[in-house]
Amino acid sequence: MKNNSVKDLLLNTGTQSQVKVNGWVRTFRANRFIALNDGSCIDSIQCVIDFKNFDDSTLKKINTGTSLEITGSLVESQGSGQKFEIIVSKLEILGECDSDKFPIQPKKHSFEFLRDNAHLRTRTSTFSAIMRLRSSLSFAVHSYFNSNGFYYVHTPIITTSDAEGAGEQFRVTTLDPKNPPLNEKNEVDYSKDFFGKETSLTVSGQLEAETYAMSLGKVYTFGPTFRAENSNTSRHLSEFWMIEPEVAFMDLNGNMDLAEDFLKHLLNHIIKNNIDDLSFLEQRLTNEEKTKPQNLRSDMSLIDKIRFVIDNDFKRITYTEAIEILKNSKPNKKKKFKYLIENWGADLQSEHERYLVEKHFKCPVIIYDYPANIKAFYMKLNEDNKTVKAMDILFPGIGEIVGGSQREENLDILNCKMKDIGVNPEDLWWYTDLRKFGTAKHSGFGLGFERLIMFATGMSNIRDVIPFPRTPQNAEF
Ligand code: ATP
Ligand code: MG
Repeated sequence: MKNNSVKDLLLNTGTQSQVKVNGWVRTFRANRFIALNDGSCIDSIQCVIDFKNFDDSTLKKINTGTSLEITGSLVESQGSGQKFEIIVSKLEILGECDSDKFPIQPKKHSFEFLRDNAHLRTRTSTFSAIMRLRSSLSFAVHSYFNSNGFYYVHTPIITTSDAEGAGEQFRVTTLDPKNPPLNEKNEVDYSKDFFGKETSLTVSGQLEAETYAMSLGKVYTFGPTFRAENSNTSRHLSEFWMIEPEVAFMDLNGNMDLAEDFLKHLLNHIIKNNIDDLSFLEQRLTNEEKTKPQNLRSDMSLIDKIRFVIDNDFKRITYTEAIEILKNSKPNKKKKFKYLIENWGADLQSEHERYLVEKHFKCPVIIYDYPANIKAFYMKLNEDNKTVKAMDILFPGIGEIVGGSQREENLDILNCKMKDIGVNPEDLWWYTDLRKFGTAKHSGFGLGFERLIMFATGMSNIRDVIPFPRTPQNAEF
């Protein structure tokens, strides 16, 4: 007899005389009711045993966490709460679980505690729901691009270029840390290192993706990126996953349209395919909100927030307009912002981004045409010679979720901008080559995958939406 998943059994339309299922015990009540979960869906299946048919030593081994193989008949449930249950005829203990030592108890655990037990936290409903949503969103990323004519490119993880000065990089080396070879200036001689030059983990696949856009037309990367910035915030990881489409012959407007359509597709996908997990997380969030003071509570539920993003146009404003709004805002006038906005040219901090999204517009906002000097060198200079064709997308509760731009396709301007920030164009000779051989306008963006999952799941700490988070001082598991 083949194994059934709990999901398939619960989706059944009729009863079945013989089914077999494997899973882990969530709870065991009254020596009679086992809630068995196998991770296939948020729900457990109720398995009913007649204790007279099983010896005491077997019953004693049925604890939260025990793995079981159960055979029995699938019948319509007598109790409320589930449509079907299994009347158990045979029960095999696959793996015992010492209930005194098992960290995951059938009660509420703090997220901090569960982070310390990240190898077991997906045995809880909350984390299994989050990780199923993560999987579903990954699938939706690929399906969106696949059905829109994009090719998937695997850009390298080990690089020699700091793509954008985006963040501190992690060095990759095989040199002996205690006794590295030195050059005549008494500095570490990386020409003796494994790759013959200094290498590090990538902070973005963009520059390499651009080379593929300039041949395959529409491409995207979806892979891990690494930033050694020591920012211990709830929105930054040292290792995170980024989705980076890059499209030839597309301008900044096309880029904004693509990003908005893409985000809506991803959120639509989970509304259509993962409503059970979303409903569970919605309830969790609603309960959490109830513990907050009234003025800090959100007036929308999780699914309402997701639907709101799908159903409404994102507000598009220039950086200059954003500065005007912020300058005249209450928190700026009352000096409530940590960084007051006084002049055009100021970099926007997350407090400003959140004010625009959560207080002023109350919807996702795209800010574009930023001052050139606060953005990366490869962004296309506007005719005003002051701003670049950059765009950031800001989401409620999250802040920046997407950063992108039209790329500078003019070789002279690109060379100038590189020199200005101290990048030697010769070090990126292959990147500038694109501007020599059939240059064309092109654009792209980076979506931080975990920031999207935070929004989709209502989780407020980025460490809780990736299986094994890497953050400063933490690389356990
Ligand atoms: P932030 O200002 O939030 O640090 P950034 O401007 O450094 O972001 P980009 O370099 O534009 O970000 O990267 C593109 C996207 O990658 C961001 O919009 C964000 O969603 C995500 N991202 C950036 N840094 C991190 C990080 N350390 N952890 C998780 N996601 C990140
Ligand atoms: Mg950053």
